[in-house]
Amino acid sequence: MIPLRLKVDPLPADAPIVTRLRSSAPADVDPLDAVFLGMDGTVAEFDLAGFPLRLHNAPIESVENDVLLILPRQGTAHRLIRASSPHNTLLVTERCDQLCLMCSQPPKRHHSDMFPYFREAVRLAPKNAYVGLSGGEPTLFKEELFLFLRDMVDARPDIRFHVLTNGQHFEDADIEELASIPHDRVLWGIPLYSHEPARHDEIVVKAGAFSRLMQSFAILARAGSAVELRTVVMKPNAPDLAPLARLVTLQLPFITVWALMQLENIGFGRKNWNELFFDNSLPHAFDPIADALNFVRAKGVDALLYNFPHCTVPEDFRCLAPRTISDWKQRYLDTCGNCNAREACCGFFEWYPDERGFTGVRPL
Ligand code: SF4
Repeated sequence: MIPLRLKVDPLPADAPIVTRLRSSAPADVDPLDAVFLGMDGTVAEFDLAGFPLRLHNAPIESVENDVLLILPRQGTAHRLIRASSPHNTLLVTERCDQLCLMCSQPPKRHHSDMFPYFREAVRLAPKNAYVGLSGGEPTLFKEELFLFLRDMVDARPDIRFHVLTNGQHFEDADIEELASIPHDRVLWGIPLYSHEPARHDEIVVKAGAFSRLMQSFAILARAGSAVELRTVVMKPNAPDLAPLARLVTLQLPFITVWALMQLENIGFGRKNWNELFFDNSLPHAFDPIADALNFVRAKGVDALLYNFPHCTVPEDFRCLAPRTISDWKQRYLDTCGNCNAREACCGFFEWYPDERGFTGVRPL
């Protein structure tokens, strides 16, 4: 697994520091840059505004241009932006007002405002980066989020954002603000699990969530926002896919894409795995997914499969299953060794349970 934290010698600082690692004295050096001095055994040494920054077991080639957050007197640095990766996500908060049965990052009470550091990180990010914002629920801090997006969209015209939100907090008063954010710069990823309000509410463990979500969709539609609708396919909602597909085409035709997703075995998803995991590789199990994909695509709505290994998907639908698992938490199984589909296939989450997963994994 690619490490998202690096070991550093603690810095004598009173406040968190954001810095970008540079390999040598570049012409465009930024005041926040740490410039590589050389290796001391396995320790990479950098000059950070006159202070020595010592990074353990991290060759310069693997961290060059990464943006780090270093907390005072701590021995680890957080890799906010990995320059060589297309998968960079900033965690806005760990608070949330839902308790989704499959949540990969169960909520916590504690919250620290990270936006000041995220601003610096995005300012220093590589050209054309695609930056995710997630939680917890980022819109619990909606004013700060809007301000961040507005400022960053202006400051870095090359960068695009994906915001993962439960869609419970958009209001009519937000329409002007939402409309001011160019729709090709921010994609709002929003989950909807069923056409049945009660089933959606049961899955997100919040009464009234479905109805509030539909209200938010109307607001986002009026604002012209780009929406990626997300549905994790699980045992409780797999039978709902056909009517959900009809709801998508009738009530949400403005969405950019509908993503049908496989379950991640971590957080609440691990705790509830046996009750939730839907093995689409079993005979005929893919049928409701295929019907839903065919239905919405025939009506002009784009649809994709996220986190579906290719061998678990009928051949005709593999072109809809891109490599969606973030590089730092992705792996293949021993079975995948000689598979011809490896280049195109998303593989598995690092924490995928080999013994309790798909029955139909086989090399193609
Ligand atoms: S065998 Fe592995 S690499 Fe090949 S399609 Fe299946 S999961 Fe993907």
